[in-house]
Formats: sequence, C-alpha cells, structure tokens
Amino acid sequence: MATQSEISAASLAQSSTYNSVSFWLKTAGDNLSPRPSLKGNVTADVAIIGGGYSGLWTAYYLLRDNPGLDVAIVEGEICGYGASGRNGGWCSFRLPIDASVLEARYGAQSTRDALLTMYATVDEVERVCESEGIDADFRRPGILNVARGKQQLPSVRKTYDTYVRLGFGDRNVLLTAEEARARINVSDLEGAMYSPASAALHPGKLVRGLARVVERMGGVIYEQSRVTAFEPGTSPRLVTDEGSVVARKALVVAGEAYLSQLPRYHRALLPTSSMLVMTEPLTPQQWSAIGWQGGECLNSQAYLVDYLVRTPDGRITYGSRGAPYKWGSAMKDPYDPATLDVMKQNLAAWFPALKDVAIADSWGGYLGVPRDWTPRISFDAENKVGELFGYTGRGVATTNLFGRMLAAMITGRSLEGLSLPMIGHQSPKWEPEPFRWLGVRYVQNAFRRMDTAVRRDSAPPLDAPLARRLGQQK
Ligand SMILES: Cc1cc2nc3c(=O)[nH]c(=O)nc-3n(C[C@H](O)[C@H](O)[C@H](O)COP(=O)(O)OP(=O)(O)OC[C@H]3O[C@@H](n4cnc5c(N)ncnc54)[C@H](O)[C@@H]3O)c2cc1C
Repeated sequence: MATQSEISAASLAQSSTYNSVSFWLKTAGDNLSPRPSLKGNVTADVAIIGGGYSGLWTAYYLLRDNPGLDVAIVEGEICGYGASGRNGGWCSFRLPIDASVLEARYGAQSTRDALLTMYATVDEVERVCESEGIDADFRRPGILNVARGKQQLPSVRKTYDTYVRLGFGDRNVLLTAEEARARINVSDLEGAMYSPASAALHPGKLVRGLARVVERMGGVIYEQSRVTAFEPGTSPRLVTDEGSVVARKALVVAGEAYLSQLPRYHRALLPTSSMLVMTEPLTPQQWSAIGWQGGECLNSQAYLVDYLVRTPDGRITYGSRGAPYKWGSAMKDPYDPATLDVMKQNLAAWFPALKDVAIADSWGGYLGVPRDWTPRISFDAENKVGELFGYTGRGVATTNLFGRMLAAMITGRSLEGLSLPMIGHQSPKWEPEPFRWLGVRYVQNAFRRMDTAVRRDSAPPLDAPLARRLGQQK
C-alpha cells in the first residue's frame, strides 16, 4: 500500500505536469492536483462529460436552480485541461458565427435578439464571478478590431455596417487611422472599429474557480476519468475504464474538440490547433512606445487569425492559428514550433518597437470546429442527451449562455430572455479522409498565401474566393 508521502509525491508530480499545460493553469492559484477518479458504478441525476466551461456552467446553473440535484462531472484530465484553461481570455459578445452570416440565415430580428443575449451574457459572467467570489481578473477593455494595411479596411467597414444595420450603431464606433493610433501604436494601422462592451479575463482562474464553486454547491467531479463510450436512452450511461455513471435525467456531452476522438462525434468536429505566445511584463518605456493604455482586446482581419490581449501584470498575449491539421483528426499535440516562429515574427511586425521583447511562455490548444462553423446546443428529451460544443474560437462567453440554456432545457424551465436561433441546429459532417486532410490543408495553405498578399499589399491569389468559400470566411 502506498504511504501518505508517496501519495502526495505522486499528486505533486501530476500537478506539475498540468502546470505546463498553459501559463493560465500555472497561475490559476490552485495546485492542480487531480481530484479522485471514477471507480465503480454510480448513478446521478445528470452526468456530464467534460470539465471545461461548458460542463461546469451547465452544472452551475443546474445546481443553482435545483438545489439538491445530483450532478456528476466526468473529466478525462483535470478541469480546465482543454481550451478553457488555454484560451486567449476574450470574454466577448461575438457569437462563433459572424453576425452577417447569422442575419443571412435567420433574419435581422433573430440576429438582433441573439446579439442582445450575448451582450447580456458578458454581464452574466461578470455577475457570477462577483457573486461566487471567483477572482478571474475580469475587466472591460472592449475590442479594437483593426485594419492593418488598406486591404483590411473593407472587412472592418463591413463588420461595422452589419452592426449598424442591426441597430447596434451606438455600441460600436468606427475609428480613423489617426483615432485608432491615439489608442495604440501598431504598424500599418489604417483604421479600426471599437466595441466597448466586451471583456477580458484570466481563463485559468475562471475555470478552476468555477470547478470549486460547482463542488461547493454539491456537484461531484471525477478527474483523470476518460469516457470511452456512452449510451443514450431512458437511463443514459457513460463508461470509463474503471467505472460508469447512469443518469436519471440527462447525460450532457461537453467535450468540445476532444469529442472528435469518440467514434460517435468523429466527423462532427474538426480539432483545430490554436496557439498563444506570452511576453514577459513590458517596461514602462515599452508601454509608452506602443500606447495601448486602454488594454483593449485587439485583433486584425488576418485569415489565419491574430489577436492580442494585455494582461493586468503588463504582458502581451498573442494568439494565432495555422499549425497544420493532422491526418484523421489526430490530437497528438496542438503545439507546432514552426507556427510559433511565424507568430514571434508576426508579433514583432505588429510592434516594431518591441522587436527585442522577451517571450515568457507559449502553448497551444484545440478548438472544436463544426463543418459550417455553427455551434451545437440541443437537448433530446427522448434519449436524455444534451449536447453543447463547436464554439470555434469564441467560447468564453458563449459557453455560459449554452450552459445556462441547456440547464433550463434539461429541467423544463423557460428560456425567457435567452434568444438563440440555432438551437437544435445540426451541422453537416466533415468529409472522410483523405478529402478532409486535402481540403483543410488546402485552405490553411491558401489562407497563409492570402495573408502574405495583404502584408505585401499585392493582389490576392487567384484562388482566394474558393478558399474563402471553403473556409467559411467573409
Ligand atoms: C488557444 C485557444 C484560444 C482561444 N481563445 C479564445 C478567446 O480568447 N475567447 C473565446 O471566446 N474563446 C476562445 N477560445 C475558445 C474557448 O476557449 C472554448 O470555446 C471554450 O473553452 C470551450 O469550452 P468547453 O468546456 O466546451 O471545452 P474544453 O475547455 O475543451 O473542455 C472540454 C473538456 O472535456 C474533456 N473531455 C473531452 N472528451 C472527454 C472524454 N471522452 N472523457 C472525459 N473528458 C473528456 C477534456 O479533457 C476537456 O477538459 C480559444 C481556444 C483555444 C484553444
């Protein structure tokens, strides 16, 4: 039998493994020791697969509105191991699909209602953090959506026009190059749209804090317990190597990108690598060289996506995509050294004044991307299965809304005030291999060429319209 000191040595070793997942988990103020795993067969009212924001928000609202409900979360690693412990920390009103796409698909009124719901969701995240004592460094710097280079201006303008058309002209401001430069000194700045209502936070503190709150409310969390299969039905059941949970009311599927490793969801989601680079804290001289005193969440119109956050302790976090998709949706490691090198060059290009800034950390994570970029929220009352996933790169606030809605759907409460046109939407499946690999690699490559053309201010590649269509981009 292991002695107490052997057990604590083992959990210390495991917690230090999880320390290397991301800067956010390392600095979450929590020792990351895994909770006990699921051993044996148990029952619960609601069984949840996944201890990220989706699973935890669903548990939180179930328990808040139904004290005494028996909720079990089964997590393959530790809470926050997935995207929730690795993301960029934007807590934004933007849904995973662009407002103009929503408008074309569901009409102006539904889109307006969905956006109002999302604006209120940012408020709700802040409210819960305050009321539950989760200190997640929540702040409201807004978003500065910039055009770097003249070719990016039409995209900013189009986004702004969409918001104005939908009646949100008072929540978004179009800035000239000069007005934008008064906020931040980045290269090639041609203009921007400023959206004050958005927030930023410390992702690790939020997910780890939320897990503690759920436990305090009576939820049971099993960690290092990978679900290998589940069966829907009148008594839905999930199975791990060492146990199972039978759910009386509902089984909730909240595993995001990792679900692609289960046969049932293999073609529902594409695991897409997304990486972050974090600098050491900048000196006051460096901050005065680049401005950015408002600490706005910052992004450009790059096809491979680039976005930046200023942390409260004066670092810059820079995120981008582009690590090559792996055959068969393999999820070996989201971290790609070649992409990291490009990202470091991009960061230096954003801020020539910071070309020698020291990099403190870098890490990667997986986004879950549905074939039509539309996230899934549904509850099948007959089979007692709830699903919420597919947030692409916009899940920090959206998971709160989906978790709140799913909790209400499971317990038959009204969704009043929560409006979302895509409830129950079923995305098409991703193509089987080799077509998936060929298509995704082609789009990644084309987006890289398109971004290079914009940087050089040269004509876009001839296949840009095709790549945009295949990549579901504006
Ligand atoms: C690098 C990066 C940057 C991002 N930046 C932003 C941002 O700035 N703003 C924004 O809004 N969104 C961002 N996102 C997206 C956002 O982080 C996610 O949408 C959100 O965290 C999804 O939460 P989730 O709980 O659904 O999934 P996850 O956090 O991925 O959690 C899923 C959990 O389920 C567990 N799991 C999966 N399968 C099983 C199984 N079979 N058995 C047991 N457990 C299982 C996993 O271990 C994992 O812990 C980013 C994502 C990444 C990767």
